[in-house]
Amino acid sequence: MKCPYCSSSISLFSKTMNPPKGESSKCPSCSKELKMTLARGKFAAALIPLMLVVSFVLPSNVLLKILGAGAAAAIAAFFALKAERIGET
Ligand SMILES: [Zn+2]
Repeated sequence: MKCPYCSSSISLFSKTMNPPKGESSKCPSCSKELKMTLARGKFAAALIPLMLVVSFVLPSNVLLKILGAGAAAAIAAFFALKAERIGET
């Protein structure tokens, strides 16, 4: 993911991406506030093939399928997350 202000790449696991409650995320290099959003089109585009893979690869065990679907959704969200400037729509 890239910072919309300074274009430096930001790790999803960096501290600034997981701020205390009530505080907004900040870019680690320019310290400007960011809003995290999920790009829905990207999310769907990543999720559908992952779901197909999950349903083909995993054995017919309901619990494993649920876990696989959850993992697929998490991976899709990871790809679809983007940082936005605060105050812009
Ligand atoms: Zn920045």
